[in-house]
Amino acid sequence: MTGAPPPAPLPSDGLGPLVAIVGGGQLGRMMALAGRPLGLRFRFLEPKENPPVTELGTVIQAPYDDPEGLDALVDGAAVVTYEFENVPVEAARRLARSAPVFPPPAALAMAQDRLVEKESFRELGIDTAPFRPVSSRGELQEALEALGTPAVLKTRRFGYDGKGQAVIREMGDADGAWDELGGRSLILEGFVEFDRELSILAVRGRDGEVRDYPLVENQHSEGILVRSTVPASGVDEELQWGARELVERVLTKLDYVGVLAVELFQVGHRLLANEMAPRVHNSGHWTQDGAWTSQFENHLRAVVGLPLGPTGIRGRGAAMLNLLGSPPDRGTLAALPGVCLHLYDKTPRPGRKIGHINVVSAGGAGPDGPGEEDSPESLEARIQEVIRVLDAGV
Ligand code: AMP
Repeated sequence: MTGAPPPAPLPSDGLGPLVAIVGGGQLGRMMALAGRPLGLRFRFLEPKENPPVTELGTVIQAPYDDPEGLDALVDGAAVVTYEFENVPVEAARRLARSAPVFPPPAALAMAQDRLVEKESFRELGIDTAPFRPVSSRGELQEALEALGTPAVLKTRRFGYDGKGQAVIREMGDADGAWDELGGRSLILEGFVEFDRELSILAVRGRDGEVRDYPLVENQHSEGILVRSTVPASGVDEELQWGARELVERVLTKLDYVGVLAVELFQVGHRLLANEMAPRVHNSGHWTQDGAWTSQFENHLRAVVGLPLGPTGIRGRGAAMLNLLGSPPDRGTLAALPGVCLHLYDKTPRPGRKIGHINVVSAGGAGPDGPGEEDSPESLEARIQEVIRVLDAGV
């Protein structure tokens, strides 16, 4: 453990419970920002200096698998949760000896390995792209012959934002993909010609109650999420129900507590699960300003054992736009109605996620009070205006 301050003393003054969070990035920050008004207090374990959670609780600066750091994190905590899925499973199990860990460590084990994850989806009767494990060039050849091209070769572990994967458009691309990724445990997936990408977020309480958020439509650029929109156009009850049913199977199987996100490919009326995140998720950031209860608040309600809040859309809809690289001009954005800026206190670097913007219905946007409620068209027009401002770099 490096220069860790001692853990905050335990309250004997009726203050709210202490929530320990593994990770100190923007998701931990937004959890704490949602949890402080509920009277919750926070402690974080984070190896990096000056993380986004600085000032929102005590930060223990130590590696995620450091036994002393883990023990200091959990000391006196009512519950432990985490904000990223690559928490070492052993660390989560160690923490679970001292306090409840939610979501359960089994969810980490499932999410950390794309092969285990896809096999688990299949065992639960959830559709996925066809896949094969690959650990040698020969196995890659066999898998390509079985699945055909195009296909996607991915590392089984530690892939994120499109990193650690290569598209094999034709057999001739196989050597290049192998040179790039070979030597690690891999998975080959059939390429899904999807209509669009969606995600379903749901939350399960300690008492087993499940609430799902409306399906979110997601747009990526170079593997990174750039925009999420709700409601996703043309979602009927059947599609929403199918997504809820799918995520509920995972929640029940894992005896899960907290928010779970499953990224989906839509092909006609079918939903294929691509991957899951056992945590709050970038495609749920719109809920901060566009839902009755944000994903962050509902995650905390779940893990500390409070009743869950309603998950419906507040107003006509919302869009979330990720801010990559450098921060936009606050004055220009603040002048636009229904625009909510969320910055993460991160040093700008090209391509780095430093914040996001939620654009919500501007029913109350008039200077003198409530104005006309947005129509879907006027909301989209305002979203496009924000995108123009961001593209112009002002
Ligand atoms: P992932 O890291 O699995 O979330 O993949 C990043 C992005 O690559 C996804 O959001 C999709 O746009 C694309 N992708 C991943 N797997 C497939 C697949 N099997 N077929 C088609 N596109 C894929």
